[in-house]
Amino acid sequence: MNLPSTTAHLHPEELISSNRFGTFFGVTQQVFDTVWKNLTNSAGNSVAYVSMEIGADPDVFHPLKDLLEQQNISESSDPKLNALLQKYLYGPRKIPNYSGGLGVLAGDTLKSFADTHIPALAISLLYREGYFSQIVDSKVGQIDHATCWTPEGTPTLFQLRDPQSPDQPLTIAIPFYNGQHKPTLIKAQVWMKMEIAGRLDYFVPEFLLDYSLPDAPVWIRESAHQLYNAKSIIIKANQRRMLGSAILPLLDSLGFTCGTIHLNEQHGVTVSLHLILQELQNTFGETFPETITDDDVLAAAERVSHKIVYTIHTPVKAGHDRFARDVYSAISHKAFQRILNLLAHDEETIHEYNFTAMAMRINRAINSVSRLHRDVTKKQFPAFSHKIKAITNGVHHLTWISENRACCFDQTPSLQNWRDDPGCFVSTPNHELPLLASALQDAWNRDNRLLIGYINAMLRSHREEMVETWIDPPNYLSSLPESDWLQPGVFTIGFARRFSTYKRADLIFDDIGRLSDILIKNNWPVNFLFAGKAHPADEPGKYVLKLILDNQEELYQRSNGLGKLIFIPGYDMHVAKLMVAGVHAWLNSPKRPLEASGTSGMKAAMNGVPNISIMDGWWVEGYHDGQTGWKFGYEGPVDDADLSEDPDALLYSEDASAFYELLPSVLGMFYAQPQQYLARALNNLRLNIPIFNTHRMAAEYIEQYGLQLDPQTQDTIDRFRSLYQSEQSLG
Ligand SMILES: *Cc1c(COP(=O)(O)O)cnc(C)c1O
Repeated sequence: MNLPSTTAHLHPEELISSNRFGTFFGVTQQVFDTVWKNLTNSAGNSVAYVSMEIGADPDVFHPLKDLLEQQNISESSDPKLNALLQKYLYGPRKIPNYSGGLGVLAGDTLKSFADTHIPALAISLLYREGYFSQIVDSKVGQIDHATCWTPEGTPTLFQLRDPQSPDQPLTIAIPFYNGQHKPTLIKAQVWMKMEIAGRLDYFVPEFLLDYSLPDAPVWIRESAHQLYNAKSIIIKANQRRMLGSAILPLLDSLGFTCGTIHLNEQHGVTVSLHLILQELQNTFGETFPETITDDDVLAAAERVSHKIVYTIHTPVKAGHDRFARDVYSAISHKAFQRILNLLAHDEETIHEYNFTAMAMRINRAINSVSRLHRDVTKKQFPAFSHKIKAITNGVHHLTWISENRACCFDQTPSLQNWRDDPGCFVSTPNHELPLLASALQDAWNRDNRLLIGYINAMLRSHREEMVETWIDPPNYLSSLPESDWLQPGVFTIGFARRFSTYKRADLIFDDIGRLSDILIKNNWPVNFLFAGKAHPADEPGKYVLKLILDNQEELYQRSNGLGKLIFIPGYDMHVAKLMVAGVHAWLNSPKRPLEASGTSGMKAAMNGVPNISIMDGWWVEGYHDGQTGWKFGYEGPVDDADLSEDPDALLYSEDASAFYELLPSVLGMFYAQPQQYLARALNNLRLNIPIFNTHRMAAEYIEQYGLQLDPQTQDTIDRFRSLYQSEQSLG
């Protein structure tokens, strides 16, 4: 149980709080009131964090549920409390509002804000069909279907009530200008999830806007169901408006005064159009004349820009929204078109509005997500290069460190405070290392057995499903006797992330003959575990996924059964957590420099698991001259870097070859020199946990926000910030 052992006895009736927007379960009234007061203060001393997706599934991190279980609280004689408790303990826990790293990062960030008591809230959309659920058939590849879930049945979601008529849900009205001067007001309801601190003494509310209402117009409803629905460019544009245009109305109707809006990627950037429009109306009157000049518009933009902090997450084209001018003009306000013409023009194509360019122009701070990515971003956007700083990503250590590893840290005297201070790993004294090493090895073995058990159970259920359905099991091993399935203790390498072509999931299978020869020559068994989803409209991504399936039998046969490649369908945070703790090495094989940061490798590092990675994204900072893992492949200067995602420009055979040259030394060490292998794991704890945690990252963001914090919180933030300075030149 990933919990501090010193928490005082819990009285569940004290965990009910309420205000004019409803009754909530999870924190005390006092905590609730403190948070609400911080978000409504007249000084505007708080942040609204805006993200298209938020991944914070309570099935991987659930401090309150752990505590209730630890204290054996499972029912109450008060019927109302009992109903809340039953729903909380046994209700479905998934909130499928994320597609990958961007959303998981958002969730991890909010958890760290909560742990460090930062006055912040988050805004996102609620997707009643989630992103999508993945079935995998060995002949067909990925099959996607709508995710089945209901916010109504989810215990950690609360629908806000209308203070005027509490038996009705709160409805807010969001302006959409579809070419008219006066807006159409579209209704949305609001769900709140509390991102509760590990110690239950603070929370960050996440507001999810639900536009799927029975009387919503069709054009809204078709855009509301599914995250990153790409059926048409209009649906995509509408989704962006549904996020960006709702920010000010949501803050207004709840009375929040946030002085800073943090755009986690540019998806919500239309909020800037509304801020500028408001500014023009305030200066020139409600129906400001068409005679205002371009300079008036630019001056208004300049005045609102101090409210915006912007994080750019990728150099890859698909991450940046461009809309044809005529398409977007048809759905916007006349004044918006003028703002867009001045501030969203695209350097390459005059016929498009570029939302990344707009986000670059209207803000008080821009950050990239690693040092290398900062240099790439400067190269991509030279006009803003003076403004672009690095804040390297992190992960929430309390979420991603496995229970077995947590027990191991709890037993180590110098790590007693690891939950509150991920920096404490820097200074493990030498005399503690032997004991920590053997405890870590035990925990690792346990996590490996859990993972292998999970896979073998999956293979069994696929085999049974095959008899009952038309699905061909995704894994070749399902067709073999169970004795040929996975064994714990066999070197297991993991790869799991979205299937985008630049991530090159298939890289290490470029030459299966060569790979097999390495295993056969030394009689080394190896498990290759792969998972991930391709966006339903990403045909090349789905093709790579299918290639992975197709490679399974060939690898098995050519390596005489030593190489076992397994695909785990339905990648989510739960599978991620099992994998990053249970494998022996984490593989990352993107085309440098297209992986801006990557965070799954950090989750592995949190558990001591070494990375084997291309020198890209965070690994440039986490590699520490080989003390923490291995590098391979092209690492030429960014200035000459080719940012193309063309299949021909992906450097497959060069980088694959570098992997084959490296692999024997990794396997040799694992099988013949386990102490040396373990030393690399310990180095990950010592060198990487203190850097790649979201407490440190949040502390760097908070510097951009310019918040006034109470002295104790400020101290904590300063301490985390002193762990690492992302903004430092490379090499
Ligand atoms: C961490 C995580 C990711 C991000 O992985 P990258 O290696 O950064 O691409 C994607 N999906 C899930 C479910 C994750 O937990």
